[in-house]
Amino acid sequence: FQEDWDKRFNLPRITDIYDLKPRPTTFSLKKNRSPAGDENGTPMDKWNGYVNSDDRALLKVIKYSSPNSAGAECIDPDCSWVEQWVHRAGPRKEIYYEPEEVKAAIVTCGGLCPGLNDVIRQIVFTLETYGVKNIVGIPFGYRGFFEKGLKEMPLSRHLVENINLAGGSFLGVSRGGAKTSEIVDSIQARRIDMLFVLGGNGTHAGANAIHEECRKRKLKVSVVAVPKTIDNDILLMDKTFGFDTAVEEAQRAINSAYIEVPFTLDGEYGVLRHLEHLLKIKGFCVVCVAEAAGQELLQKSGATDASGNVILSDIGVHMQQKIKMHFKDIGVPADVKYIDPTYMVRACRANASDAILCTVLGQNAVHGAFAGFSGITSCICNTHYVYLPITEVITAPKRVNPNSRMWHRCLTSTGQPDFH
Ligand code: ATP
Ligand code: MG
Repeated sequence: FQEDWDKRFNLPRITDIYDLKPRPTTFSLKKNRSPAGDENGTPMDKWNGYVNSDDRALLKVIKYSSPNSAGAECIDPDCSWVEQWVHRAGPRKEIYYEPEEVKAAIVTCGGLCPGLNDVIRQIVFTLETYGVKNIVGIPFGYRGFFEKGLKEMPLSRHLVENINLAGGSFLGVSRGGAKTSEIVDSIQARRIDMLFVLGGNGTHAGANAIHEECRKRKLKVSVVAVPKTIDNDILLMDKTFGFDTAVEEAQRAINSAYIEVPFTLDGEYGVLRHLEHLLKIKGFCVVCVAEAAGQELLQKSGATDASGNVILSDIGVHMQQKIKMHFKDIGVPADVKYIDPTYMVRACRANASDAILCTVLGQNAVHGAFAGFSGITSCICNTHYVYLPITEVITAPKRVNPNSRMWHRCLTSTGQPDFH
């Protein structure tokens, strides 16, 4: 298992298929030299600030003494003794591209998420620090690669300096239209050497397909992703940028966990009965419901969006109607207001902690590309910044276990009964 783990988490690199000589990095780290040395009098010029390729971070740090310890249910028993090391992110001493010759492109796909502009901005800054002169933005997601009339946008520090002050994406986003071979044709025609892809699970699947196709064609292209989701539903990571902001913006415990927990409206243990109880004791109540929750209660439209994702029916509208009807039926006057915060949550600018996360993830994406990695994603695991192979994070969405402590904490902090 240990061998299997190490192999799975080994990062794909362009040197796997080409015989390339590295060159010393041009990313300068100010040396922390002090003539006086540290308190032991040792000169501190040994510090160079670069990450070595053998540096790893440990994914799980708890040793469960028993399989029924809280949290142990998430661990595959066969793997419990495997040391789950992942590659540390950061600048390398040696790089595989000549910065002056590099053309780098940035694309944002999928839905909007706070922090996209922060990441774009940091990628541009860091590329310029390496000495890259040719940086472009691909407008409106993967479509920007092949749709007529969409022109690539030259990017520079000057242009992106203040884009973090606004929400949304400076480059625009889109869904659908991802024909990998056409995208790679376009990458080839535009002579792109590094592609930075910001997006969710679909975008990551696309980025990995682009990486594979570039390999097949023997193109020296580094494809590096930065995960973006307000739902925090990507495997292995502590959190994705935008999540904190979204939670803060929604002002309530909008927890994607609700998606996993089935509930009923009617009956003794249904939501309506609980609302009756709350109205009686408090005179008001707030219901937070995730947009994908309770789909089995709704009529399926069968429709899909441009990316092929199933369009979910609106549970909020449905619940509002049901609740109104119920209180009318039982003769209790109740005023039911429905607020859909989707764009309030998605299109605002990142808060301070997300802005910091975006800064580091964006910088590390550039370091990863220069180090010759491709088909990787830049993220935070167990409080450390790391690179993961995209293949490991797109196998399934991260789910909340309704028997876990996390879910239990959610119930105890909201006072919500377990409806299922
Ligand atoms: P969000 O979480 O906001 O939905 P997402 O990245 O999952 O973000 P999608 O619209 O599903 O958003 O996908 C974004 C882009 O990735 C689209 O252009 C889509 O065509 C492409 N894509 C999705 N799935 C795949 C896949 N399996 N292979 C290649 N490309 C894909
Ligand atoms: Mg998605």
